[in-house]
Amino acid sequence: MSRQGLIGAVEAGGTKFVLALTTQDGEILARTRIPTNTPTETWPAMQDFFAETSELHGPIAAFGVASFGPIDIDPASPAYGTFTTTPKAGWSGARFHDALASFSVPIKVDTDVNGAAIGEWMSGAGQGCRTLAYTTIGTGVGTGVVRNGHSLMGISHFESGHIVPPQNHAADPFPGICPYHGNCLEGLASGPAIERRWGRSLDRLASEPGAVAMIADYLAHLASTLVLLHMPDRLIFGGGVMKAPGLIEAVRTATSAQLNGYVSHPRLDDGLERYIVTPGLGDDAGITGAIELGRQALARG
Ligand code: ZN
Repeated sequence: MSRQGLIGAVEAGGTKFVLALTTQDGEILARTRIPTNTPTETWPAMQDFFAETSELHGPIAAFGVASFGPIDIDPASPAYGTFTTTPKAGWSGARFHDALASFSVPIKVDTDVNGAAIGEWMSGAGQGCRTLAYTTIGTGVGTGVVRNGHSLMGISHFESGHIVPPQNHAADPFPGICPYHGNCLEGLASGPAIERRWGRSLDRLASEPGAVAMIADYLAHLASTLVLLHMPDRLIFGGGVMKAPGLIEAVRTATSAQLNGYVSHPRLDDGLERYIVTPGLGDDAGITGAIELGRQALARG
C-alpha cells in the first residue's frame, strides 16, 4: 500500500513515552519507548524519533497523542495540547503542539485513559459498542467514555475518580488519600490507597477478609453511576488493581446489587459477565488509541 500520509502516534505516560510511526491502516513501521524526564530532554528525543523514522519511511500526515494530565484537550481552546496543573516537574505549560510544530501537520491530543478507551473500542474488548466506558484503577482512577470512536468531554475531560462513594465508616474507617477530597473513589480504592490502608496490594490481601468485597463496592458505585449517566453498551475495568483475583467478579455482583434491576436491557446480561469486562489489549490499548487519534486528526484536516 501507499506509504503516503503516515501517522505519528504518541502514548505519553508518567514514566515513559511510547512512540510509533504507522500507516493509516495501523501497520507499525517503527516503534520505541523513551523515558519521561523533563520536556527539555523528552521533547527532543521524541522529535528525533519521528524525524529519523519519517526520513526512512515517508512523510508524516498527522499526529495522535494520548497523554497523562491534567492536559487541555479542547480543540477550541488556545491552550489545546498544554499540560495544566500537573505536579510532574517541568511539564506544566509544556505543549505538544509546540514540540511537534516543525512537522506542520494536524495534531489530536486526548488523555491517556481516553486513548486507551478508543484503543479498546477499535480493536479490544469494546469492539462493536456504540458507547463504551473504559475505567482504569491503578495509581489513579479515571474513565474514558467513547461514543462511536470519539471521546466525550465537557469543559474538560471527565474526572470519574473523584466522585465520592458511600462509605461505611464502621467497616472502613480509612480517611482516604486524595489531597482534595480524602475519601473520593481515588482516595479509597486506587492502588496507593489500598497500599496505605493495608500495607499491601490487593492481589496480596487474600488473608484480609472483605478487602476485595470492600473495594468492589466502591468500584460498583462508579460502575452503576456510569450506567445511569451514560448507558454504555459495555463497561471495561482495567489497571493494576483489577488484576486482583476475584475483583472483577465482585464488581459485577456489587453493581448488579446497586442497580437492583432498575436498568433492564439485553446488554445487561444476568450476572453482568458480558457487560462488565476486563481489557482486551493489555498494554497496547494506549498506542492503539493514539494511532486512531492520528486518523481523527487527519480526517479533521
Ligand atoms: Zn479526589
